[in-house]
Amino acid sequence: MRFSQSLIPTLKETPAEAEVASHRLLLRAGYIRKLTAGIYTYLPLGLAAVRKVEKIVREEMAMAGAQELLMPMVQPADLWHETGRYQKYGPELLRFVDRHNRESCLGPTHEEVITDIVRREIRSYRDLPQNLYQIQTKFRDEIRPRFGLMRGREFIMKDGYSFDVDDEAANKSYQQMFDAYNRIFKRCGLEYRPVEADSGSIGGSFSHEFMVLADTGEDTLVICSACDYAANSEKAEIAAPQADECPMLDLEKVETPGKRKVSVVCEFMEIAPHELVKTMVYEADGIPVAVLVRGDREVQEVKLKNLLGAADVAMLEDKAVFDATGVPTGYLGPVGIKIKLLVDNEVAAMRNFVTGGNEKNYHLKNVNMGRDFEAEAIADLRQITDQDPCPACGAKLGMKKGLEVGHIFKLGTGYSTVMNAVFQDQDGKDKPVVMGCYGVGVSRIVAAAIEQNHDENGMIFPMSLAPMQVIILNLGLKDAAITETAEALYLELQKYGVDVLLDDRDERPGSKFKDADLLGIPLRITVGKRFTKDGVVEIRQRKDGSVEELEPQQVTHRILEIIRIAMNND
Ligand code: ATP
Ligand code: MG
Repeated sequence: MRFSQSLIPTLKETPAEAEVASHRLLLRAGYIRKLTAGIYTYLPLGLAAVRKVEKIVREEMAMAGAQELLMPMVQPADLWHETGRYQKYGPELLRFVDRHNRESCLGPTHEEVITDIVRREIRSYRDLPQNLYQIQTKFRDEIRPRFGLMRGREFIMKDGYSFDVDDEAANKSYQQMFDAYNRIFKRCGLEYRPVEADSGSIGGSFSHEFMVLADTGEDTLVICSACDYAANSEKAEIAAPQADECPMLDLEKVETPGKRKVSVVCEFMEIAPHELVKTMVYEADGIPVAVLVRGDREVQEVKLKNLLGAADVAMLEDKAVFDATGVPTGYLGPVGIKIKLLVDNEVAAMRNFVTGGNEKNYHLKNVNMGRDFEAEAIADLRQITDQDPCPACGAKLGMKKGLEVGHIFKLGTGYSTVMNAVFQDQDGKDKPVVMGCYGVGVSRIVAAAIEQNHDENGMIFPMSLAPMQVIILNLGLKDAAITETAEALYLELQKYGVDVLLDDRDERPGSKFKDADLLGIPLRITVGKRFTKDGVVEIRQRKDGSVEELEPQQVTHRILEIIRIAMNND
């Protein structure tokens, strides 16, 4: 690729709308451009990086025996009605009608479509197992598309599905995919961790996420300091504590004028936040529910959503809380509350706590569940902290931020049963196929790799994902010897299959160096003054700035060697 003839629109200014490094650098380096919220064009270098991820995915899928197919993006609503997900999926599913008034949607995931294929084409146990995947553009009408490729509305995903005769075979397929995923993320040069995960709207019995460790990650992970336990905090279970057995004291009403926030109430009443219980109000599929957690805790919304079996839960605004309960926020409490009440298992074990008084300017002291109010359900509803013991072994937990780049699910027979995807087994009986599904965020991986590998000058691509492996700077466009050498290296490296960008623009050396750094290309070859003076060219590694000077005829050999080592180690 010749820089002078390529569309690589680098920017000097940092785009204002970009909050995280990958978004900023993808825009600045001319890899992507935004069309509208959450929807991007991949410019040539951006697409080349995406293709690198796809290549690794395809190779590892082939090694694991999976077959590639390509399903449609537009899907009929009828299929989604069969599984009930047309309603349940929530507003991320973009629904529309065509000219014949047929309801349709844009595929956010393809369980329905692939199960439809399988129920039509698979007859007998002899046709199984099957493992099918595609790499395709997905659409999810995300509520907050942000961070560029990290959370788009339109994005590229690899989604795969396995079909087996029984649970044991399905677990084997799951394990094969688990192993293949580890190889994929390792080859992408990512520092990542598989964690136990919630299965969300996809459903199923167990699931793992593959998390790239990065401070900008939207997920919180808990990682045990002693055992193998690692989980998304959405999933990390917290055991119910021992019930407090101390005697119940008399309920007292306390005037707390204008005291609404936990910290203010605590100071006023001279108590610690863990002696107070707060009442949080959510809307679950349009119905308000109150959740009690200790004053120093947070509600874990995914746990709440799972408990209620809701498609969507969101915290209610102050006004909506008042409309639903007749009490201003800050004074809400469980005693006499008018809406459905759920209680975190930690609160259920407490005695004589403080809550809102369900009346403006009042709180209650010595509140006790069972005596003063009843719960509709008691469950683990709070966000785990690093003060909680490891759910597996009881040791200390660490917390880290993670970016989800892959997610695998053991689905079981949920989809095959409702969609009647059955096969005839050896005993002549019809049985539902046992399924698994496996996703990789292809475009998100490009962003995640940059999030993990960049400096103040630009991106630093791992060799395996770099859109171009080498950039050659011709610093003497008018100098015949320099130009001839740069051009010869450009041709020779390409002959050996290296992806090379030749910077043959009529630009100052300074801006060529700057762009080379910004683009994140792992190896830079400079042909300039040192060549004229001493007959040497310079190879510089983007990752550590190390420099070596070689005669031109040694360069190709050395470059191939560096690439080989990097591809094995990244
Ligand atoms: P998230 O919790 O980040 O919304 P998800 O659980 O909805 O992810 P899956 O349904 O498991 O995601 O999709 C498989 C993979 O697709 C994810 O692991 C992630 O890497 C990627 N992905 C999901 N949503 C997006 C998005 N909006 N933009 C880019 N990649 C995405
Ligand atoms: Mg999602």
